[in-house]
Amino acid sequence: MRVEVLGTWETTDTPPVAVVGAIHGDEPCGARAIERFLTSAFVETIRRPVKLIIANERALAAGTRYVDADLNRSFPGTADSDVHEEQLAADLLEEIAGCVTLGFHSTVSFAEPFGTLADPTPLKATIMEALPLAHAADFSGVVDGRSVNLPRFVNVEAGYQGSDTAAENAYECLLAFLRVMDVLPGEVPSTPTTHYLVQDAIHKATDQTYRVHVDNFERVAAGNVFATTTAGEELVADEEFWPVLLSATGHDVLLGYRSIRLGKLGDASS
Ligand SMILES: [Zn+2]
Repeated sequence: MRVEVLGTWETTDTPPVAVVGAIHGDEPCGARAIERFLTSAFVETIRRPVKLIIANERALAAGTRYVDADLNRSFPGTADSDVHEEQLAADLLEEIAGCVTLGFHSTVSFAEPFGTLADPTPLKATIMEALPLAHAADFSGVVDGRSVNLPRFVNVEAGYQGSDTAAENAYECLLAFLRVMDVLPGEVPSTPTTHYLVQDAIHKATDQTYRVHVDNFERVAAGNVFATTTAGEELVADEEFWPVLLSATGHDVLLGYRSIRLGKLGDASS
């Protein structure tokens, strides 16, 4: 794990700020954004300390999601574990203890950046609305033990895995995050972010290949066929939903998630 501390790290009244890239080694956008930031003129203008963390360097170098186990399924981890990501999870939690933290991911399902969070708070909503994100997927009650479940942690899914656009989106989000957290000077405009509450996972049959016929964050009406298998089976929506992380190839056993659209994120957390 690479940890770059800018400024003098000290405990103050305001929570410290951290950014984490390469939680998954095959999603380089966050690490690229951090490296670009570190060589930019912005580092001369910081107003308070920030930690920039490239979490899974070994997986990043190998271009794989993880070495031994998925880091984002390994929290809280074990400091003396032989399993690389178990140890990394414990080390990462120690580094970001008390911090307001932005994590970076990327997907095979959606080109535009969007936020993920759980248990919205006014702080999380403020961050999401400061970042250039039209959508935020809320996984409250659907996942646990992940970074998104930490009380001051939010994520950006920056775009397609390995794309230059994802690295560019991650950089724009990094700058906006540092501005809204007062690490960097300058106003950041608040942009409305629509809040989608994830309901449940859509599972795949492992012996089938799927085609997806709908777009993420676009309403699927009840009765619509949203995916088909090569065997000709149709997946039909029982009720209307908004797809999140829906893709034919993103995951072995999950096609994606069903969500409902709630409204503006800021309205839910106030
Ligand atoms: Zn990821």
